[in-house]
Amino acid sequence: AAASSLALTLSACGQNSDGGSEDTKGDAKGSTVGIAMPTKSSERWIADGANVEKGLKAKGYKTKLVYGEDDPDQQVSQIENLITQGVSALIVAAIDNKSLDNVLQQAADADIPVISYDRLILGTENVDYYASFDNEKVGELQGGYIVEKLGLKDGSKKGPFNVELFAGSNDDNNTKYFFQGAMNVLQPYIDKKQLVVRSGQTKLNQVTTLRWDGGTAQKRMDDLLTAAYKKERVDAVLSPYDGISIGILSALKSDDYGSKTKPLPIVTGQDAEVASVKSIIADEQRQTVYKDTRQLAEVATNMVDSVLNDKKPEVNDTKTYDNGAKVVPAFLLEPVSVDKTNYQKVVVDSGYIKESDLK
Ligand code: BGC
Repeated sequence: AAASSLALTLSACGQNSDGGSEDTKGDAKGSTVGIAMPTKSSERWIADGANVEKGLKAKGYKTKLVYGEDDPDQQVSQIENLITQGVSALIVAAIDNKSLDNVLQQAADADIPVISYDRLILGTENVDYYASFDNEKVGELQGGYIVEKLGLKDGSKKGPFNVELFAGSNDDNNTKYFFQGAMNVLQPYIDKKQLVVRSGQTKLNQVTTLRWDGGTAQKRMDDLLTAAYKKERVDAVLSPYDGISIGILSALKSDDYGSKTKPLPIVTGQDAEVASVKSIIADEQRQTVYKDTRQLAEVATNMVDSVLNDKKPEVNDTKTYDNGAKVVPAFLLEPVSVDKTNYQKVVVDSGYIKESDLK
């Protein structure tokens, strides 16, 4: 490993490992780091891209940032291009976590280290480090919000309450962690019949939402309401992501939820996107999970800087994220539950969202 990281430090400054000086520390500066992000259709990834570029530039690197429009093939060819252009390292937030095997082999052959960004890349040894959040905790915060606000947690209500479950894209490794975290909290109440999933759709493969698409979620919510809620009402909907939450809320509103006699269910979310924070302020969506992408970008850019300078990046988890080929050393940040009571402090006062954007 030492030899290959020396080789990559050398190749990063345009030399091969056959010649040049031994003392290469710091020479990676000035090289170009490739950044592959999944989509511009969601604010968070736009912010991620911008923050990673900013962080790398501040450390003296050049950057090439590409977005894959949620198309796995496009992302693969974008990464191929970055490799051809001679980037010194790659930061990748995958679209389809299982489609990057070949292209990451090309990266490894060119001694380009790879940081898996937010979403773990599966099935290949050619992932050096993983920068993300505690993904299971994200789901626990969503499930926890539902049982708390329904009054089940403190026992002030016994139910039964009707809940429906949504999960993210099945090709995103995070999806199963979010869902598992939520079900850790919800399942005991389902077992006690204090929570009832009237559609019967409780298995992960029944509730995923391809590419996290809000329209797809809206359609599924429409179908659930038609099939399982003719007379009954839905009291809570587990939603893994703000874009999905907005879709779910549209379906609910078309079915008269949100009127005086038919309150909206508790709908969760993730990412503290502007549209959802506004929705929370308007008492529609009830919660989101905030993940400070500025911090994530900092972790990832520090990892790149360390690896390119032959230092060991700081990690805080070396056991959770087995990608099928190896356990990838990770640095995991803490997600924060946000609702109407704390959005001001958590997302506005911290400068994550401008107050004026919420008007
Ligand atoms: C990210 C979430 C995001 C989702 C949809 C996941 O991999 O961790 O923050 O909501 O993708 O973009």
